Amino acid sequence: MSKKVLIICPHPDDAEAFASQLCMQAVQAKWEVHQVLATCDEYGTPINKFKGQRIKRIRYLEMLKAQRLYGVDKNGKYIVQLHWMNYIDGFVPQTKSAVFRLKVFIQKIKPDVIIGPDPFIYYDSHVDHIAVGKNYYLALRSLDPLERPRLMLYFQTLMPDFFLPKLHYKRVNLVRSAHLSQWNPRMVKIIEKFNSIVQIWVILKHGYVRKVEGYRRVTFDSSHNIPSGFAKILFFFFRDRPLGYKEGRFIPNPRELGLELIPHEPIQ
Ligand SMILES: [Zn+2]
Repeated sequence: MSKKVLIICPHPDDAEAFASQLCMQAVQAKWEVHQVLATCDEYGTPINKFKGQRIKRIRYLEMLKAQRLYGVDKNGKYIVQLHWMNYIDGFVPQTKSAVFRLKVFIQKIKPDVIIGPDPFIYYDSHVDHIAVGKNYYLALRSLDPLERPRLMLYFQTLMPDFFLPKLHYKRVNLVRSAHLSQWNPRMVKIIEKFNSIVQIWVILKHGYVRKVEGYRRVTFDSSHNIPSGFAKILFFFFRDRPLGYKEGRFIPNPRELGLELIPHEPIQ
């Protein structure tokens, strides 16, 4: 039976932005790859009249395009399977029931490898990244240790301790280009460099000569979730500065846009 990886994303494009190597290398190795998306970018535009259903539809179709570009298996089935949590961009709840909902989903998929946003030593402090990261950490912690995936990782971390070599550049960039309304070709290059730059001090410390993408192992020892060394200085800058965030982003409010905040069904 093929191995399974589950990537937990606050928004469509986060896997391609921050865990592109894990996702692409799992696809290439013919693993079963699942992406679960917390929101569909309902506030992913500064233009008020596009917020809500309109931008959601664009981001949804772009995510389907990325899925198509990852390819199909020998039975013609998409290699990357998408699941939606149906929360609203900017309003992912960090509650017991949200943790439980995610936990049940992890138990259903039973991944061998799992990755989600680092909610402790991060470089994107978008509220959804923090909420999804905390829900992810608490869901894993609440699992019986025997039930936990064999490898549990964080992406968008300032203190990586698990590295994958950067491979399949062309394919990674092709899938990234599916998120057309978020990233132009220049942005694709910037993201690639940005991830490496914020981790460069750790990468050099480990003596890696070739290019790598760094992740951090999930730990339940809270002393390991405090930034240290150079990460402490970097974290000071990133802590309260969500990437790409602009004032007034969440106006009009979800009710005015006719968006339902709390979904009740299990994640499909
Ligand atoms: Zn995001």
